Amino acid sequence: MTTLLSPEIDTIGEMTERCDRCGAAAKLEVVLTSGGDLAFCGHHANRHRADITRVASRIRLEDGFDWAGR
Ligand SMILES: [Zn+2]
Repeated sequence: MTTLLSPEIDTIGEMTERCDRCGAAAKLEVVLTSGGDLAFCGHHANRHRADITRVASRIRLEDGFDWAGR
């Protein structure tokens, strides 16, 4: 485990994106270390938390969303 590569996590008030997997309202956005970004609903953000942490340079959480990968 290293903390040096941990993505920066921000909380924002309201998210307008839709989940890239299922189209539900997104609760988490990921800025990828490779460029680009992804959005996930609560269900998919939690299911893919390990992958998200690995590829993220930055993570945005909707205010009040209790992400399991945090
Ligand atoms: Zn989803």
